[in-house]
Amino acid sequence: MRTDGVHLVDHPLVQHKLSLMREKDRSIKGFRELLNEIGMLLCYEVTRDLPIELVDIETPLQSMKAPKIAGKKITFAPILRAGVGFLDGMLALVPSARVAHIGLYRNPQTLEAVEYYFKAPADLPDRTVILMDPMLATGNSACAAASLLKARGARDIRFVCLLAAPEGILHFRAEHTDVSIWTAAVDDRLNDHGYILPGLGDAGDRMFGTK
Ligand code: URA
Repeated sequence: MRTDGVHLVDHPLVQHKLSLMREKDRSIKGFRELLNEIGMLLCYEVTRDLPIELVDIETPLQSMKAPKIAGKKITFAPILRAGVGFLDGMLALVPSARVAHIGLYRNPQTLEAVEYYFKAPADLPDRTVILMDPMLATGNSACAAASLLKARGARDIRFVCLLAAPEGILHFRAEHTDVSIWTAAVDDRLNDHGYILPGLGDAGDRMFGTK
């Protein structure tokens, strides 16, 4: 598989926490906490190349030119509902970020993404948008979400997930060649129901305690 535009975050802390999340007996509380912690670590990676500018500041001892993040502001865009699991961790690192919500559900027969909600800041063209969903499976939801953001003017989009299936990566990168992916793992394949193998099951159900 070609891996252009795919950033595998193989930091030991991320890998360890992901393995804990995969375990079927992990509690809902534990699963949720780990997802937030990994969200924070993935946020650190996805923002690694944000441009810096030197600004004048005063320390208690003297003035200096100090680096601060320059330019475009950040919008986090979780795909409902599982994408919300990353949000608190990411907001802990970038508390002033705006948040867009993208409501999509999977038609269980066709696995196609169906939109039911979209709300985003008006100035999307001026923002770096970090689109997030823990599972990149078929890629249908991620593709639809990126298209909705682009239709509202977003030009700089990055996609963050926890687990990706090769099928999802191929689909997403074919439709959105300009959107890179950050993921903690690339798993083996999808099963007939569109679930990632070995995976971790249904991320939304495990996070919210539903079935
Ligand atoms: N969504 C999930 O929550 N899990 C999968 O394995 C695939 C899609």
